[in-house]
Amino acid sequence: MKLTILGKYGPYPRRGGATTSYLIECGGKRVLLDAGSGSLSRLQQFCALDDLDLIVLTHLHSDHCSDMFVLRYALKDKLLPVLLPHTPEKEYGILHACPCFEAMEISESLDFTIPETNVKLSFCRTIHPVECYAVKFREGQDSFVFSGDSRYTDHLTDFCSGAVTFLCDSGFLSAEENTGALPHMYVREAAFTARRAGVGRLLLTHINPSYEEEMLLSEAAEVFRPVEIVEEMKQYHI
Ligand SMILES: [Zn+2]
Repeated sequence: MKLTILGKYGPYPRRGGATTSYLIECGGKRVLLDAGSGSLSRLQQFCALDDLDLIVLTHLHSDHCSDMFVLRYALKDKLLPVLLPHTPEKEYGILHACPCFEAMEISESLDFTIPETNVKLSFCRTIHPVECYAVKFREGQDSFVFSGDSRYTDHLTDFCSGAVTFLCDSGFLSAEENTGALPHMYVREAAFTARRAGVGRLLLTHINPSYEEEMLLSEAAEVFRPVEIVEEMKQYHI
């Protein structure tokens, strides 16, 4: 499987950047995993929009799905399957009503095989202000997990167990501790999740543009290695 970083920022992009979005190539298919702002422009440097086989949206916050509302103008003669949460109702309703999207609701009981492949998808509910799911791609013995957005949860840690690559929401530095209930993991918690789950490699994403990346990386590396902050437009074998 191959991961291409289209956008790594959240909740808004750095100048010249894009918010959370990834292209996963697996089993000869192309899957768009989240569709943040700026992602469609980036995606077309790797494939045509019509070449997508599936879209997976972890949740319907704008930094993860805003370009879906643009993609609907681009797909003319195609019905594209979209796995997404059923709520919030307003955003779901708009996407469900688009004739170019075949909406399929995500749940923890869903076991989805990408058609004509041996790649299986499974989902884990996370802790976030809206309905959100981590997603696992499994091909043979290998698995890749993307956290979506989440606070720390043992449930997600169990879900990640043994993953070759774990791409994780790394929303906050420890300096933000004691500032109240936050919707993302501290980067130390992302690293702790990786360590407890025994993953092969931790990739940090959902980077707040106001942070120095070196600070995020050093806080994570104190807890788990190998770890790196993903680079936009870079490709990773996962
Ligand atoms: Zn979110």
